[in-house]
Amino acid sequence: MSFSATMMDVPLTIDLVVDRAERWTAGIEVVSRRPDKSITRTTYGDVAKRARRLARALVGAGIRRGDRVATLMWNHSEHLECYFGIPLSGGVTHTLNLRLHPDEIAYIANDASDRFAIVDDCLLPLFDKVVAAGAKFEKVIVVGKAGDHVPYEAFLASANESTTLPKLAETDPLGVCYTSGTTGKPKGVVYSHKSTVLHSIVAAVPDSLGLSRADTLLPVVPMFHVNAWGLPYTCALVGAKLVFPGPHLDAASLLELFQNEKVTVGAGVPTIWLGIREALDANPGKWTLQPGLRMIVGGSAAPEQMIRDFDRLGMTLLHAWGMTETSPIGTVSRVPPHLADADEDTRYRLRARQGTPTPLVDICIRNDAGEVPADDKTSGELMIRGPWISASYMGGHTPDRWTSDGWFRTGDVARMDQHGFIQLVDRVADQIKSGGEWISSQELENTLMGHPAVKEAAVVGVPHPKWSERPLAAVVLKPGATATADELRDFLAPKFAKFWLPDAFVFVDAIPRTSAGKFKKTELRDTYAKHFT
Ligand code: AMP
Repeated sequence: MSFSATMMDVPLTIDLVVDRAERWTAGIEVVSRRPDKSITRTTYGDVAKRARRLARALVGAGIRRGDRVATLMWNHSEHLECYFGIPLSGGVTHTLNLRLHPDEIAYIANDASDRFAIVDDCLLPLFDKVVAAGAKFEKVIVVGKAGDHVPYEAFLASANESTTLPKLAETDPLGVCYTSGTTGKPKGVVYSHKSTVLHSIVAAVPDSLGLSRADTLLPVVPMFHVNAWGLPYTCALVGAKLVFPGPHLDAASLLELFQNEKVTVGAGVPTIWLGIREALDANPGKWTLQPGLRMIVGGSAAPEQMIRDFDRLGMTLLHAWGMTETSPIGTVSRVPPHLADADEDTRYRLRARQGTPTPLVDICIRNDAGEVPADDKTSGELMIRGPWISASYMGGHTPDRWTSDGWFRTGDVARMDQHGFIQLVDRVADQIKSGGEWISSQELENTLMGHPAVKEAAVVGVPHPKWSERPLAAVVLKPGATATADELRDFLAPKFAKFWLPDAFVFVDAIPRTSAGKFKKTELRDTYAKHFT
């Protein structure tokens, strides 16, 4: 007799999450703020029912396993229905990033061979430009006023209840997101049902993001950017109430929503929290927030000063790192129990690092000499592997991003301390090489952002006749604050080697950003290319 496991073989597919939402957390609310600022309320039970209806309508309209269906939408409950309904039909959700140029969106939609598009009515002017730029869709379904297109509600109503939905396999594709393409063309990353279910479970565990049914989560991070960090799936899995901000992402609108919906967790890039900090400091007592409100921050480094400031304001910032290719959660920074009594500076330093890997993923840092020691000095490229880490790009582009022994090369430069906490020091492409020595732009930025007058700072390497490259800092001051270049250099001087200190500080109104809110260093480098020549 052969000896084998006696467990049921249940494929890890998204219908497990939808079934649970429908059966066990049906009454939990999903709140959406609309373009006119009105609020609509639905429940997981209704979202699940409507997602199934959407799936049947899609199958009825000809969507087959593996077909791509694009969404061009803000964060709201219909988008959540698409997150579930499209994969339930066997289709693949392709979230288009509305912040990209229409030509780029058209390129991405065609590259993914999107068959249908589901679009917000307020985004139709953008959608028309995408179509004018060459994107082709067989069917366009519109949430709201549909004009000549198919109204979303009518499409749902067209579903035939007797249509059978396909039996899904856990390795089937569920969604596709494109990388931001700062180097070369954007590339598709295709998530599977299994990778999404596993990522959702692990994102929720206490030492990861720590989400539960007791939470109300507001994802400021857009659903068109790495599936809003997978949070809509995680929330549906654990039964956390979801609050969607729609297109209203300014600090005052968000704070009003935090207050009115009793939000316990927010998630977004540092820029969002910088704006919130400014609004809270300028209007003490204006908003009553939930005690212990947590904010998940990622996408760019969370400056240590920001973490300190939010503690002062009674909120806890949780720093995480990830990429489109990693679904995205790779590491989370939580002070472990054995360091809970460490001095305050040590604890803040740990929290400002990118942290340690979540369960089921592994990381290592390698340079030309091999794996770097955990000495917090030697840096190398961060590598990652695990069940929700991409094993290739769609179409097999740039296979050299994977090592022969199965790691994904992140393109991030990092070092590791004795506790296993990683510290990102740069993108490989953003490192500054001055007189043959490396300088980390991110470490200079993070420290500069701790200066009381500095709102934001980005450091780039600019060609220099003698040193080949020298650092230049672009600085945005806080409203009403003043600081000179000399003051900022003096502020950095005790913390860095002399050759690290930027040769120039330029004061700007804003730092150019990518569609995902990260500093657009390519543009800064172009703008200041001749600064030292
Ligand atoms: P994306 O695929 O657009 O989400 O970008 C991923 C990249 O964002 C990473 O490779 C990092 O360079 C950067 N990033 C994400 N999270 C962090 C973080 N917590 N600290 C510093 N950089 C980050």
